[in-house]
Amino acid sequence: MEKETRKGLDVKSMNLRELETELAGEKPFRAGQMYEWMHVKLARSFDEMTNLPKALREECKERFIYTALRPVRVQESKIDGTKKFLFALSDGSLVESVWMQYRYGNSVCISSQVGCRMGCAFCASGLGGLERNLTPGEMLDQVYAITLLTGERVSNVVVMGTGEPLDNYDNLLKFIRMLTEEGGLRISQRNVTVSTCGLVPRMKQLAGEKLQITLALSLHATTDEKRMRLMPIAKRYSIRELMDACSYYFRETGRRITLEYSLVRGINDSEQDAERLCRLAKPLHCHINLIPVNPVTEREFVQPDVSGIRAFQNILEKNKINGSIRREMGRDIDGACGQLRRREVCTEIEKNGVLEENRC
Ligand code: SAH
Repeated sequence: MEKETRKGLDVKSMNLRELETELAGEKPFRAGQMYEWMHVKLARSFDEMTNLPKALREECKERFIYTALRPVRVQESKIDGTKKFLFALSDGSLVESVWMQYRYGNSVCISSQVGCRMGCAFCASGLGGLERNLTPGEMLDQVYAITLLTGERVSNVVVMGTGEPLDNYDNLLKFIRMLTEEGGLRISQRNVTVSTCGLVPRMKQLAGEKLQITLALSLHATTDEKRMRLMPIAKRYSIRELMDACSYYFRETGRRITLEYSLVRGINDSEQDAERLCRLAKPLHCHINLIPVNPVTEREFVQPDVSGIRAFQNILEKNKINGSIRREMGRDIDGACGQLRRREVCTEIEKNGVLEENRC
């Protein structure tokens, strides 16, 4: 009976303490060994854990779910080498993750939910609504699977894929801790970025966790009215409240905020928009990331032309606001959030197709 109730526990989502409790009847070092197999040696199954007794491995197979994402599709950009992965989860849901090479190291962009319920007007991720939250193990395994598939160490993790990470708060926190703390990959918290559409109470709660991660706020507009046209969440929280939450985050953590601003032609790209953005940014210790909006098939938004983007950036520079235009990575491979998954889900092809690993 005991075993029956336990079956189904997700072993990769357990921190070391929890795993020790689960394996209380075993020799004390077994939990540590198993944890290392999962989170350092990146084993894909219990069978690989060769220094564990066979009987224990078999028992664990019975008792636990072992999250190991299955790559369904990989697209590689011919422009910049960016790779976009579509993974199948154990229940058949699909998530996408992106691997990018920068001068300072390899960065992985992970998803935090299957779908999203925030419904931002320019984003493909929310088109089908939210299906479910990802577990800590499913978030971790996007990093692990990509490390194995590329054969390269990941130094930066950004939670900017599908989903609203602060809408999956507890799992996100556990994921960050397991990714960065002793016993796992120990990626520096300073190299982890969490992007939010602006759930104010959660931003404040996150500030209290005293993590050294970067918080990025998807601002995208400089008046509440304009923001409401792009992001339904703007009806809940005003820009004033968002700015207060950002200041609070900086005060509590000492970490500079990033403001993300997707430039959409005719909507938020005017001179006045740029001036207002400067006024909002000035009192904050922040960096602004300008992102020319990525065209999504289902949406009619378009980017400003190059001169429009430059003009916007010049106004930021004139006002001595720290900002950069985000390089568009993987534009030729459905680079925008949720596009790859969206296409796959819509056409419902290859759900069971397994990709040969040597394509990566
Ligand atoms: N829910 C989180 C993280 C996911 S999206 C958030 O809202 O921040 C990561 C970033 O990409 C966000 O800034 C989001 O607004 C932006 N984004 C989504 N679709 C986009 C598109 N088509 N073009 C440009 N940026 C987009």
